Amino acid sequence: MLKLYNSLTRRKEPFKPLQAGKVRMYVCGMTVYDYCHLGHARVMVVFDVLARYLHWKGFEVTYVRNITDIDDKIIRRAAEEGVPIEALTERFIRAMHEDEKALGCLPPDQEPRATRSIPQIIAMIQALIDKGYAYVGENGDVYYAVSRFKDYGKLSGKKPEELRAGARVEVSEAKRDPLDFVLWKRAKPGEPAWDSPWGPGRPGWHIECSAMSTACLGAHFDIHGGGADLQFPHHENEIAQSEAATGHPFVNYWVHAGFVRVNQEKMSKSLGNFIRLRELLQKYPGEVIRLCLLSSHYRSPLEFSEDSLRHAQAGLTRLYTALRGLPEAEEGEEGRIWRQRFEAAMDDDLGTPEALAVLFDLAKEINRLRDRDPDRAARLGATLKALGNVLGILTQDPETFLKGETADLSDEEIERLIEQRNQARKRRDWASADRIRDQLREKGIVLEDTPQGTLWRRA
Ligand SMILES: [Zn+2]
Repeated sequence: MLKLYNSLTRRKEPFKPLQAGKVRMYVCGMTVYDYCHLGHARVMVVFDVLARYLHWKGFEVTYVRNITDIDDKIIRRAAEEGVPIEALTERFIRAMHEDEKALGCLPPDQEPRATRSIPQIIAMIQALIDKGYAYVGENGDVYYAVSRFKDYGKLSGKKPEELRAGARVEVSEAKRDPLDFVLWKRAKPGEPAWDSPWGPGRPGWHIECSAMSTACLGAHFDIHGGGADLQFPHHENEIAQSEAATGHPFVNYWVHAGFVRVNQEKMSKSLGNFIRLRELLQKYPGEVIRLCLLSSHYRSPLEFSEDSLRHAQAGLTRLYTALRGLPEAEEGEEGRIWRQRFEAAMDDDLGTPEALAVLFDLAKEINRLRDRDPDRAARLGATLKALGNVLGILTQDPETFLKGETADLSDEEIERLIEQRNQARKRRDWASADRIRDQLREKGIVLEDTPQGTLWRRA
């Protein structure tokens, strides 16, 4: 049985969905004012693997990930660039979808956007006002009254009185309590605005996730995910809003993906060690980046370096090399033990490093059997591919991956040189054969002579 670490209870718990056989999952998505960085990539990949794994275990999964397409940063950036907000957000939504595809993530089942969910957001704010959990401040903004929600702090473990003691009191604020947060922002001149019972304005960030998750998945659902940095205040505030507005428990399992660290420091814009996914994709295939992200447990900090990418590249090459040249086959009975080992690793709070170790062991076994028992090796190859696919890897043809896409020589040129080398070898002209081999090696092409002929790959 799958166990997941639940941030709400701070322990691993057996996963039991609310409705037998069905899983409803909501993940906080991107604020689309810039390109995805490695932290976004990690959240995308982790929850893609969770959705794929639940599906593999036979659950029917509904995966919703929102898009925050209106907020202060978006408004500022659009103004800086002198473009309409929609033009800016459409550009970064398109880029995000490209990045996600390059990482081998399946699209979520639903991708609600804040600007298309205004009626649901307004309805939830109105419900909170009606129930006495929200109020209109003197400045026209609508605030959530934190002191009214008795469970505030249950997710983050933070106590309201301690938070209040540490809060900065800003004189200009119209809040009754420094912990209160904004639900609806009244528009300033020139800002984008939607009509509401409280005048033209736009939603606060926290309320959009409460409203969109409820609209897509109902008031009470199974899994809510996101990056660890969202636990407080964003997710704490979502709980306060949703449970107060609907009167139901909100989410059963809170799942948080850890930080990305670059050279032992947390990756952040202010530290200037911020890595955009696009920059990495110019140097490494998305599948390599994906394997690199899955090599750490999702809750641990991910220690990122070029070395970790090179390590992932070497690992993926090992897996594809085991699959290369195997005849087509169906999975067989001998795959069962490997499937069980894989499942045991994944059932333990999505243990992808251990699950990958199973795949590397399996690749070794395939290599050992390749000549001795090719049929068995081929059936195990089918198991390796199937289990890799659960993690979203090994989805390409091994030849395609191993030959790569970037090199000075085209495939035709490489094959022509290999043919020349074969002719030379036939003539026993070893000097020419070696020269061609060296020439290819200089271009990063590695040859491997097998009984079936010469295979090549880009190193
Ligand atoms: Zn959210």
